[in-house]
Amino acid sequence: ELRLDHLTRSFGALNALQDVSLTIRRSEFIALLGPSGCGKSTALNCIAGLLAATGGSIYLDDKRIDQLKPEDRGFGMVFQSYALFPHMSVRANIGFGLKMRGTPKAEIAKRVDEALALVRLEAHGHKLPGQLSGGQQQRVAIARAIVIEPPLVLMDEPLSNLDAKLRLEMRAEIRRIHNQLGATTIYVTHDQDEALSLADRIVVLREGRIRQVGSPRDLYESPDHLDVAEFMGFRN
Ligand code: ATP
Ligand code: MG
Repeated sequence: ELRLDHLTRSFGALNALQDVSLTIRRSEFIALLGPSGCGKSTALNCIAGLLAATGGSIYLDDKRIDQLKPEDRGFGMVFQSYALFPHMSVRANIGFGLKMRGTPKAEIAKRVDEALALVRLEAHGHKLPGQLSGGQQQRVAIARAIVIEPPLVLMDEPLSNLDAKLRLEMRAEIRRIHNQLGATTIYVTHDQDEALSLADRIVVLREGRIRQVGSPRDLYESPDHLDVAEFMGFRN
């Protein structure tokens, strides 16, 4: 399990994340949901180690990890802009992290094959990213994040660059991959529908604080605050 204990991150006078405490169970799919600027990316980047917390601590299975470098935490990251290497094949993009860790070539080939199968891109390994559709590129980014077999997969608005139809398709794919892997997933989004349809539990953030935590049903049927009700109820 992953435990955030009074996690805080400020930028000067601004508390982007304030006193966030949360325990995430193994294999859980958590959505971090809230409007722009509420601290979702700040939270995710602190968990990943890309941003230092200014207060509180992070534990993974009771081991304190907030002093560790990102690469020593070993989490898989998928960002909004998937930033694939344009000059490298899909296979090379997916295997890059393993190569950097000094994994033997045969082992890399085997694990890249498995990751390609999981995201259903077996036929596309030899292509360059530019020869793929947006959804296929996003799947390469997911394969690259999961090929290291991370205990935790962190996704920051991974579908926001895709058109509406692909977004729906990829939503289902992400949940399928999560179920198949059994990894823990933290998924950042400002889209209520996405959070409701994907997550086991939704964490609603507002101005850097947790406003409510609950199952999609809890949040939809019994929101604790008017602003949560409005946020869950209104569709844009
Ligand atoms: P969005 O949905 O727009 O991505 P978010 O919920 O991910 O929003 P954050 O990026 O976590 O929001 O930002 C939270 C707050 O912290 C915002 O007010 C933002 O302006 C501020 N902030 C984020 N990064 C920095 C930074 N590097 N320096 C100063 N302020 C920052
Ligand atoms: Mg963000």
